[in-house]
Amino acid sequence: MANLPQEADVVVIGGGVMGASAAFHLAEAGVSVVLIEKNELASGSTSKAAGGVRANFSDELNVAMGARSLDLLADFPNRPGQEIDLHRPGYLFALSTTEDVTAFEAATKIHHKFGVESRMITPQEAKELNPLLEIDGILAASFTPNDGYCTPESVVLGYASGARKHGAIILTQTEATDISVVDGKIVSVTTSAGVVKTSTVINCAGAWSPTIGAMVGLEIPVKPLRRELLITEPLTEDFADVPDNMPMTIDYSTSLYWHREGNAMLMGFSDKSAEYGFDLKRDPKFPEKIGELAYERAPRLLELGAASGWAGLYDVAPDHNAIMGEWDGVSRFLYATGFSGHGFLQGPAIGEILRDMYLGKTPFVDISPFSNDRFSSGGELRPEKNII
Ligand SMILES: Cc1cc2nc3c(=O)[nH]c(=O)nc-3n(C[C@H](O)[C@H](O)[C@H](O)COP(=O)(O)OP(=O)(O)OC[C@H]3O[C@@H](n4cnc5c(N)ncnc54)[C@H](O)[C@@H]3O)c2cc1C
Repeated sequence: MANLPQEADVVVIGGGVMGASAAFHLAEAGVSVVLIEKNELASGSTSKAAGGVRANFSDELNVAMGARSLDLLADFPNRPGQEIDLHRPGYLFALSTTEDVTAFEAATKIHHKFGVESRMITPQEAKELNPLLEIDGILAASFTPNDGYCTPESVVLGYASGARKHGAIILTQTEATDISVVDGKIVSVTTSAGVVKTSTVINCAGAWSPTIGAMVGLEIPVKPLRRELLITEPLTEDFADVPDNMPMTIDYSTSLYWHREGNAMLMGFSDKSAEYGFDLKRDPKFPEKIGELAYERAPRLLELGAASGWAGLYDVAPDHNAIMGEWDGVSRFLYATGFSGHGFLQGPAIGEILRDMYLGKTPFVDISPFSNDRFSSGGELRPEKNII
């Protein structure tokens, strides 16, 4: 493993999708970067993600970042140069209230504004796309055919390898423990492997990002929330009617979702009874709870046993939207956190944005509404509705 260098232009803290993408984009632009990860690459929330990648959001900025990320993911085998098993069978949100239908109709218009293919479809059309969907009570569905899913660990490893090729130093099993500030300027980061001099820190520590913010006096209102999913046993011949390109499907009112995972299914839902905290113990009642939702919305899934599963953390922001920007309390502290369950898919675009912010270039979208200041200075919250 590489040694901690004496100095670097930028120290990125966190080796999930955000940190790896930031390190790649900065190193590619010629910036000297050190990435510090306290465990292994992708070992935080990123490896726990369901892999969903989409532009189907309600917030214009999320639509733009989702679409940009999809373009970057489609080009991933060329740049940075890694297979990521990208499938694009689309995202299908099944809607069962008139309010939700109205909200998704409005979102569809935003999608079109950003060139994202998107349409409202009938329940019957939704069932043709996904024969497992029970459409009793469904009023309509939102379908974005170019969305999909890919492998989170591969994305992180691709960015990390690409960053290394461009000279970045990536240290795992290395924890950032302090940031030194002199006369309002960051001067160094203390780690479990020693001290590295730097003028810039990028906080990509996900659910742990408030601890890094506190090192420079910035309060970041992110809370960890356990989320669980399971992988079923392989599909039997009874599922021969389920197409390979079955969309990632979400029962919007209950958050039950499922997509193909090789020859099995990946299933999850957002358990409203979960409490904030870092506890990753799996809920013994999870199979029963998800089974109740599937009984209503996708009963054939109950024919498949659970083969494996895991729990991970959402880094939840008060309005379920990204917290991203550069804090003006010190020079220079950048942060990208609070992704509230949709960070994996934004990682590619956010790496580009962090690079541009560092270089003083204008990013492809104005991310100032995502500033952490919105929580402290009575700024406007920015709720994202299409969340899971
Ligand atoms: C069950 C589940 C399903 C999900 N499904 C999806 C999905 O389908 N699509 C989607 O877009 N998102 C999904 N997400 C959300 C997604 O996983 C996160 O938004 C995303 O991975 C956040 O990436 P990150 O790089 O910010 O954080 P992380 O991947 O958590 O990376 C942060 C890293 O910082 C490290 N770190 C923390 N403190 C320090 C320190 N002091 N020093 C050094 N390193 C430190 C941690 O070890 C960690 O590796 C899901 C999440 C879960 C839990």
